[in-house]
Amino acid sequence: MAVKIYHGDILFTPAADRMEIHENSYIIVEDGVVSQICEKIPETYNGVEIVDYGDKLIIPAFSDLHVHGAQYVQRGIGMDCLLSDWLNHYTFPQESRFQSMEYAKNCYDAFVDEMILHGTFHANVFATIHRDATNYLFDKMEEKGMYGYVGKVNMDCNSPEFLIETTEESLNETEKYLAAHEGSKKIKTILAPRFAPTCSEKLITGLGKLAEKYHCGVHTHLVESIWEAQEALKLFPGYGSDAEIYERAGLMDHGPSIFAHVIFPSEEDKRIMKKHGSISVHCPDATVNIIAGIMPLQQMASENLKIAIGSDLAGGHGLAIYRQVARAVQLSKLKEFYEPNESKTITITQAFYHATKEAGSVFGKVGSFETGYAFNALVIDNMEDPWTKITAQEKLERFCYTGDDRNIRARYIDGELLK
Ligand SMILES: [Zn+2]
Repeated sequence: MAVKIYHGDILFTPAADRMEIHENSYIIVEDGVVSQICEKIPETYNGVEIVDYGDKLIIPAFSDLHVHGAQYVQRGIGMDCLLSDWLNHYTFPQESRFQSMEYAKNCYDAFVDEMILHGTFHANVFATIHRDATNYLFDKMEEKGMYGYVGKVNMDCNSPEFLIETTEESLNETEKYLAAHEGSKKIKTILAPRFAPTCSEKLITGLGKLAEKYHCGVHTHLVESIWEAQEALKLFPGYGSDAEIYERAGLMDHGPSIFAHVIFPSEEDKRIMKKHGSISVHCPDATVNIIAGIMPLQQMASENLKIAIGSDLAGGHGLAIYRQVARAVQLSKLKEFYEPNESKTITITQAFYHATKEAGSVFGKVGSFETGYAFNALVIDNMEDPWTKITAQEKLERFCYTGDDRNIRARYIDGELLK
């Protein structure tokens, strides 16, 4: 058995209200999996190599549960638009370029490298409608050792002529994509209807059948704006809520159901998501850039709905999930200030938990350092000023608010140091 021991200030969140901190301690990793954390190494490990990170922080790597790999090249652009204009003027024309494999390779290579640079090793990614390019992204993430879900996007209505499929084409291409990756291990396929406004009922129903046949989950946008929610119910008359569109088709029965934004959930949306253990993804930067609404995160969490954090690049303008942890705290304060009856302020502990352990739960045992979790870890600079001391939790908070990739000194996936 391969055993390694790492020394530093070890920090993780086993629960939304509990940050576990082991200063000046050792984490013992066996075959890439956490075995125990201790202040003194047990004698049985005599002779095992110790990697000493001094007073640096060792934290679980991040998960990004909603990100558009294909929008990497448009990050920080069109940020003065709202959703509908932003899609039509920037996103749709840009995504249509993924029919060129050369364009796709350049974009996806840079996108995957930058996720890893920022310490995101687990990601749930939207590609585009193009199967070949989506396959390339899937293989790239697999090659880098990441954990993830990758979805080929479906759009068969209300879309520009340069970025649309027929219903039949969309289903056939999706089935070919799912079949090509059956039995894959750390990277898995997921169904990715863009959102209800660009998918016909026939398409959604067909995807439900594929979900059953290939045991797939679903990743889409849900009640992300007032426009989107109204549009969805106009196109799906007879449905009582946005979530019901996916539930009735059987898309929430065979794998994780992951919904981005969930800013205006109705009681019915929440009931359906709770029933299926769905995860709602809060994307703070995208929320203030193009969506204009804030998820009632604390309220939803208090109702036992699962919450993750996402970058939503390129509605969001950066891939650093640690920054989204800070933003989630900031936005929860604005939410409480302007809409005190809807939700309350959250803590840094809670935000970090949603970005690590709770988000990681869709990939398996990642996002924590409890026994049995993969040692998917980041080593972060001790960010205290040389003339004064701060606690380990304060160091983490400082990293989330003011740090960047230069403060990440080492990255481990399954116990392997990334070079
Ligand atoms: Zn999105």
